Amino acid sequence: MQKLIFATNNRNKVDEIRAALGQGFEIMSLEEAGIDIDIEEPHGSLEANAREKSSAIYKLRAMDCFGEDTGLEVEALNGEPGVKSARYAGEQRSSERNIEKLLQELNGKTNRNARFRTIISLILRGDEYQFEGICEGTILQEPAGSGGFGYDPVFMPLGSTRSFAQMELEEKNLFSHRRMAMDKMISFLKKNSLTREADPQK
Ligand code: IMP
Repeated sequence: MQKLIFATNNRNKVDEIRAALGQGFEIMSLEEAGIDIDIEEPHGSLEANAREKSSAIYKLRAMDCFGEDTGLEVEALNGEPGVKSARYAGEQRSSERNIEKLLQELNGKTNRNARFRTIISLILRGDEYQFEGICEGTILQEPAGSGGFGYDPVFMPLGSTRSFAQMELEEKNLFSHRRMAMDKMISFLKKNSLTREADPQK
């Protein structure tokens, strides 16, 4: 059984990866690993923030672990809010206020192209590996739907006529940026653990 700590306490994210990983892997949230810290996101890139999360856990436990960071990148806003997505309208991290600000900034703009981008930073036996997931789409004129979280009510992925907030999780996962990054990490982990079983020196 390969054990990994996921640098989050977000239940949805932990359940999502457990369902995808299947047997052979044990995922622990920070709480389950008995780690009570609030990891900062101080950097100007998703890559550096994801690494901040995984390396903070590795320094504490010297165990295989991973962290992730996600941002909404809007073309007409030069990639904003990007790394600032959670705090776009202020420190209170309010999704409603963030959406309000986003729609204001896009008011009158015809280019509504946007994408969600997730970076996962995995530390496996002391080495770091990164995995990227991207979901292209557009920002709606007004919120639609009541599911999901964050910017879901105003984000419509390419290939759909509905916002993320109008979808069940299963449907969102067909498009999801985070799911894409997780799938890449899962393939890597499965390949890597098979190699290790065949050659325990690796
Ligand atoms: P974090 O990586 O979970 O810290 O995400 C940063 C911010 O991006 C969150 O506060 C959300 O507002 C937004 N976000 C991340 N993933 C999603 C998503 O799947 N749908 C909508 N918003 C998201």
